[in-house]
Amino acid sequence: MKITCIKCPLSCSIDIKKEEGGLKIEGYECEVGRRYAIEEMEKPMRILTTTVAVKKGIHPVLPVRTEKEIPKNLLFDAIEILSNIIVEAPIQYGDIVYRNICGTGVNVIASRDIKRI
Ligand code: SF4
Repeated sequence: MKITCIKCPLSCSIDIKKEEGGLKIEGYECEVGRRYAIEEMEKPMRILTTTVAVKKGIHPVLPVRTEKEIPKNLLFDAIEILSNIIVEAPIQYGDIVYRNICGTGVNVIASRDIKRI
């Protein structure tokens, strides 16, 4: 598996594969990259950014994101949940709009303010 490390602007190209006795990892320049490659191989994580519907707001949709990374394989489930909720204005940056998304323990928060009409 080939991975481009996103942990710094060098964007090292890292090769990682399973071999007898463990993982073979080549192309990283530092320990941060080596750990990132292992995480990408075993349990990739991502910050989710999307939007949710707003009622009584000056804008019809609110950009939101997860407070922390969640497992990549839960992104579509999380998007499905968030596509079915409606939040009511006023909303402030950082307000929690959904708790414990997909049982991850991670909250989804507002990425901006939205005033009430
Ligand atoms: S491996 Fe290290 S040096 Fe290379 S992109 Fe990742 S963090 Fe940067």
